[in-house]
Amino acid sequence: MIEVAQGDITTLRVDAIVNAANETLLGGGGVDGAIHRAAGPALKEYCRHLGGCPVGEAKITPGFNLGAKWIVHTVGPVWSGGAQDEPALLSSCYENSLRLAFEKGVRTIAFPAISTGVYGYPKERAARVAIAEMRKYEDKFECIVACCFSQEDAELYAALLKMSL
Ligand code: ADP
Repeated sequence: MIEVAQGDITTLRVDAIVNAANETLLGGGGVDGAIHRAAGPALKEYCRHLGGCPVGEAKITPGFNLGAKWIVHTVGPVWSGGAQDEPALLSSCYENSLRLAFEKGVRTIAFPAISTGVYGYPKERAARVAIAEMRKYEDKFECIVACCFSQEDAELYAALLKMSL
């Protein structure tokens, strides 16, 4: 099942939340900042030993002070027009995150709209990529949540999900 939620991803009751991180994995703005604040300083300390993460790949950490047991950190592509392999890299983010979570026995997982903030990926194009990957893994999870920060984004996801049934 794929569900849409609206609000702050750090408040969701799921086994794992996904972080739209940067290559350093040492925290940043947007959803990354919110996750680091909610998880507490032990997260950054743990991440120091991970050696960063390339674009399109994913690494997993404990959730520390979060309700979620795990945080999957993935690094989305910066949008620069679409000819720099952005769609394939964004697909990889979702796929690698879902694969890693599945291997850890995660049953419920929530994603933010990776790359659609500071990284500038057009929202509808990004949502189509996200939903296509979520559909591929839908049967392996109890629930995959698309967590949208704004109501507008939540409506976009809801409409696209309906079309992709
Ligand atoms: P990126 O650098 O990958 O673009 P951002 O954090 O800037 O990452 O934005 C990614 C998406 O996360 C945006 O759609 C933004 O609105 C959303 N977002 C920001 N804070 C939160 C949060 N606390 N919970 C869920 N989504 C969030």
